[in-house]
Amino acid sequence: MTAAAYALVNLAAVKHNIGKIRDYAPQAKIMAVIKANAYGHGLLRIAEVLQGVDAIAVARADEGIRLRLSGFSIRIVILEGFVCKQELEDLIKYDLDVVVHSVGQVDIIENYWGQKKLTVWLKLDTGMNRLGFKSTEFTPIYKRLMACSSVKQPFFLMTHLSSADDPHSAVTRQQVNLFKDTVKTYPGEKSIANSAGIIAWDDSLTDWVRPGVMLYGVSPFSNSVGKDFGLKPVMSLHSRLIAIKNIGAGEVVGYAGTWVSNQQTRLGVVAIGYGDGFPRSAQTGTPVLVNGKRVPLVGRVSMDMITVDLSSQMNAKAGDPVTLWGEGLEVEEIARYSDTIPYTLLCGITQRVEIKKV
Ligand SMILES: *Cc1c(COP(=O)(O)O)cnc(C)c1O
Repeated sequence: MTAAAYALVNLAAVKHNIGKIRDYAPQAKIMAVIKANAYGHGLLRIAEVLQGVDAIAVARADEGIRLRLSGFSIRIVILEGFVCKQELEDLIKYDLDVVVHSVGQVDIIENYWGQKKLTVWLKLDTGMNRLGFKSTEFTPIYKRLMACSSVKQPFFLMTHLSSADDPHSAVTRQQVNLFKDTVKTYPGEKSIANSAGIIAWDDSLTDWVRPGVMLYGVSPFSNSVGKDFGLKPVMSLHSRLIAIKNIGAGEVVGYAGTWVSNQQTRLGVVAIGYGDGFPRSAQTGTPVLVNGKRVPLVGRVSMDMITVDLSSQMNAKAGDPVTLWGEGLEVEEIARYSDTIPYTLLCGITQRVEIKKV
């Protein structure tokens, strides 16, 4: 039996998108970002089609260990690093590269005397104010790590852009310049760009690029879709109609009765809801494809169901196919109707949704 709600993941599209990333940054090595279960697409499934890239990045040690235990020998970078000695030892044991962003981590590394060396990505905070060292702290930290016999030399240098999705942001220019000024006399390969940097900020293309959302065919910008940049969407989300009913004018639909019919209406009930990861914030009017044609969502999204206005599809019946995003309906568009970003929609697909490769 197949699940009512399922997602299709198109692995050929991932390969296509990697090709596009190479076109944007032909000189750079690619660190493919597959944190958060590969943005909801399935960690191992996506890792399998990334054999051609130079490294993989995940947020946490457990994600990296899972990849190693599944037999992946590619370079794996743990973006959040570690917080204690035990975690550092696990990372070294599994040959995972670590992002070093705090003094506490440097203290722990200085007290590690194991045989096996650690690969470090030293992170500079150029304005995000999340992880990393300020440029003023950089030189002493660099020297401390240089003096560690347990750290492979020269180590990598990186920063993260906070506003690259705004093509007019002065902040991005400042971040790129600050990073380049701070690291320019130091050896070690350098990395700045996320997807938005790769597409919109040529200056951010250095030795390594770190694409995330564009791998999955999705635009990092709020006013465009992946196709505008030659990308192919990887995930589509599907379900089916489970009931049809006719309601009179003036009837209310769904929790809190937020939608009122102004005429006789043919309603469809679709087996998808926030329990599957379809956003509760999707407003009335959000497009849904029933039998490949657009109809509007009406009323509140519930845990397991949504309701749609089928007045334009008098022949639709229970069992008919429904697409929530995919071919003909971009996830970027659903994000706009739901006052969110496509990242949260992709990551938010829940366990109940069966993911199938195509
Ligand atoms: C998530 C992440 C990326 C990828 O970002 P996208 O916007 O999805 O391309 C790159 N670098 C770091 C440090 C990240 O945390």
